[in-house]
Amino acid sequence: MITTMLVDIDHLLATPIFEAGRCSINFHPLHSMYAIGIYFVMLLIPNKYVRVVAVGLIFHMVTDFQDCIWMGKTILQILAL
Ligand SMILES: [Zn+2]
Repeated sequence: MITTMLVDIDHLLATPIFEAGRCSINFHPLHSMYAIGIYFVMLLIPNKYVRVVAVGLIFHMVTDFQDCIWMGKTILQILAL
């Protein structure tokens, strides 16, 4: 599970590093809809370690997504590409 925290390196690449009220989903490259699609494809790979990482990454996206919801954003605003 620790390796999945590496996806947060993505957050550090952003400028500013932290901004209150910013939605991570679709903002960072590893939080794009394309990246999330890749994480779901990873679930299909019959390798235990790949799947564990994929589940961790998806879980990370779910928590970031929830942050966006709590900020008052609608699902359509979050998913807007
Ligand atoms: Zn994140």
